[in-house]
Amino acid sequence: MTLNHSRSEALYSDALEHIVGGVNSPSRSFKAVGGGAPVFMERAEGAYFWDVDGNRYIDYLCAYGPIITGHAHPHITEAIIRAARSGTLYGTPTELEIQLARMLKAAIPSMDKVRFVNSGTEAVMTTIRVARAYTKRNKIIKFAGCYHGHSDLVLVAAGSGPSTLGIPDSAGIPPSIASEVITVPFNDLDGLQQALARWGDDVAAVMVEPIVGNFGMVMPVPGFLDGLCRMTREAGALVIYDEVISGFRFHYGSAQTYDAFPDPQAIEPDLTALGKIIGGGLPIGAYGGRKEVMAQVAPLGPAYQAGTMAGNPASISAGIACLEVLQTAGIYEQMDKLAVKLGAGLKRLADEHGIPLTINRIRGSLSTHFCPSPVTNYEESQLADGEQFARFFRLMLEQGICLAPSKYEAWFLTTAHTEADIDQTLAAARIAFQAMSR
Ligand code: PLP
Repeated sequence: MTLNHSRSEALYSDALEHIVGGVNSPSRSFKAVGGGAPVFMERAEGAYFWDVDGNRYIDYLCAYGPIITGHAHPHITEAIIRAARSGTLYGTPTELEIQLARMLKAAIPSMDKVRFVNSGTEAVMTTIRVARAYTKRNKIIKFAGCYHGHSDLVLVAAGSGPSTLGIPDSAGIPPSIASEVITVPFNDLDGLQQALARWGDDVAAVMVEPIVGNFGMVMPVPGFLDGLCRMTREAGALVIYDEVISGFRFHYGSAQTYDAFPDPQAIEPDLTALGKIIGGGLPIGAYGGRKEVMAQVAPLGPAYQAGTMAGNPASISAGIACLEVLQTAGIYEQMDKLAVKLGAGLKRLADEHGIPLTINRIRGSLSTHFCPSPVTNYEESQLADGEQFARFFRLMLEQGICLAPSKYEAWFLTTAHTEADIDQTLAAARIAFQAMSR
């Protein structure tokens, strides 16, 4: 079965003429899955996409994470329209910003103070500046394969998009900046200890995705975050949790307040970066943390960070509406239930066809690594067979199932996905695995 993609192909040729690489984010290109035209979508509603050729897809890309209530959720759409009718940008404070800040603080108690920005990249970038200002130190420790946006300091051993395209260490970053970043394997406390022993006096912060979403979905092993926080504090550095993906993804709150965590006493970070879900599908980022650390930020303190678009009423309104929907009882459990069925079904079908597949599922999200061994860190995720993933991706796409075009990216469920969608997805996977096992 092949879908007609002729209009997508024509638009892609056009896009190549005007937009670098034809895409406005490299992770949207199909380079890692055999190349050619990415599908140009025209409309989305609930769990579905329709492309410019009229094909319908079940969406598991979910815009790389922000879409959790399904596309065009009426409550969020209403909020955006209401905001737009009242003017899109003021350049003054608004009451809405206080409301969203209050909601974030109530859900993530480690954030005494919040500041809104426009993207996860900005949020993370600023947490680093604030940590440096507070500690008066320079170096940052990060974990291999974690992606923290595209600012200079964190594009070293970056997972997700950069790894997919084979450029985990981006060009254009001066060696002097790259030398300020130390990379350690995820889930490796000995490695962290060694790094802190060597550079500890100059380490401003240790930054981590407490639940990884950028080389597949990967949980910290029991004791990892606990040890990380303890060692980091002993070294006089700050702990930064990048919760741009994990914030509000697994429950109403963040990884640091997630009951099912292997470290129930997971120590609170000094700073947290958020994005994606908290904007309900519009551009947003936020960072926050302990009062005395956040006091570094201008206008209170000497660390400068600003934004013309920051806290704009449309993004903030969409964020509030999205969090309101997520407060509905049972909503996370429903996504969880569907993801259990999806993950178990994919694994069973792969086994039946003799295809090595490791599924990492965390509540309503999962990742598919085409390898027989567990994936607990970036190195292990690299063992997954990219060609097999590319084949699977194409076979699923041709059956109306939309995944991210990368072996490292997660599948996300939304509150709009149904049991019937999962059944249709598994039926497509059966056909895909059959074709792959021939
Ligand atoms: N941090 C994490 C964990 C992310 O996954 C991402 C994006 O995927 C970012 C930061 C950057 O966010 P944005 O793309 O909004 O700049």
